[in-house]
Amino acid sequence: MKQLKVTLIVMFFCMTTIPRQAISWKQTPGRSGGISWPGDCFFYSVNEQGSKDMEWETLLEVVRKSFRTWQEVTCSGFTFEETAPATVDKAEFNLEKGNANLIVWRESTWDEMVDGELVRRDPDIVALTSVMYDQNTDQIMDADIELNGVFYQYAILTGAPGDEFRMDLQGVLTHEIGHTVGLDHSTVSGVVMAPYGGPGETSIRTLKQDDIDGLCSIYPTQDGADICEAPYCGLDLTGESTTCDNPRNHKTDDGKCSVAPRRASLGLLWILGWALWS
Ligand SMILES: [Zn+2]
Repeated sequence: MKQLKVTLIVMFFCMTTIPRQAISWKQTPGRSGGISWPGDCFFYSVNEQGSKDMEWETLLEVVRKSFRTWQEVTCSGFTFEETAPATVDKAEFNLEKGNANLIVWRESTWDEMVDGELVRRDPDIVALTSVMYDQNTDQIMDADIELNGVFYQYAILTGAPGDEFRMDLQGVLTHEIGHTVGLDHSTVSGVVMAPYGGPGETSIRTLKQDDIDGLCSIYPTQDGADICEAPYCGLDLTGESTTCDNPRNHKTDDGKCSVAPRRASLGLLWILGWALWS
C-alpha cells in the first residue's frame, strides 16, 4: 500500500511539473518575434515555364485556387494579387533591384547554386519556401516557392489509379502559401501546416481550424482599403531591372540601407507511407 502511494505521488508530481508542449500553429520566428508582412497583401508571380506535369492554364487555375483558400478566411483580411507570368526563375531577394514573389518548378535539378557553389538539397523535400525578412523589424520582404519537379510528379488528384504515387499540387501549394505569410509548421497533426505530406494526399487542400487560427492571429481583419504594396525595389518579372524603385522607409537619413535581410527556408517533407511499399 505504501509503495502504491509513493508511485501515485511520483506520477502526480511528474504530471504537474513537466511542461506540456503547446500544441498549435506557430509563427516563423524572426529576430525578436514572429515574421509577418507589413501589410495584408502581396503580389505573386508564376514562372512562365510552369510544370512539365500539367498544362499552363490548368496549373494557373490550381495556383489561384490555393491562394483563394487562404484569402477566403473570413477572420483575416489577407489578400494576394497575381501578376503577369515571370520569366525570372531565381528564388532570390535583391536589395538593389526589383523582386518578385515567385512560384517556380525545378525540373532539371533540385540542387541550388549559392554564390557559384552547388548546394545539394534533400530529395525528400517536396517543395521549399524561402522567406526573406528584415531582421530589424521582422517584416517579410520577399517569399519564393520552389516545387521539386525532379523527384516528384504533380497532379490534380482525383483518386484515379496511380494517384497514390503523385503529389497533389493544390495541397502542396496550400501548405507552402502558409509559409509565405509567416506560418511555421504546426504541432497539430492532420492540419495544412503539419510538416509532412505524402503522395496521394489531398486533405491539405482544406484549411483546418488551427491553420485559420494562425492566419487570423497574425493578420486579423482590419477596416479600410488594403493596398497591395509592390515588392521591395519594385516588381521585376524578368530579373533584368537595375535600380531600386521603392526603397520605402528602409533607407536611413544618410541614404544607407537599413535593411538586414535574413532567409528562412521551410520545406514540406515527404515521409514514406508504409502502405505504399508493402
Ligand atoms: Zn512546410
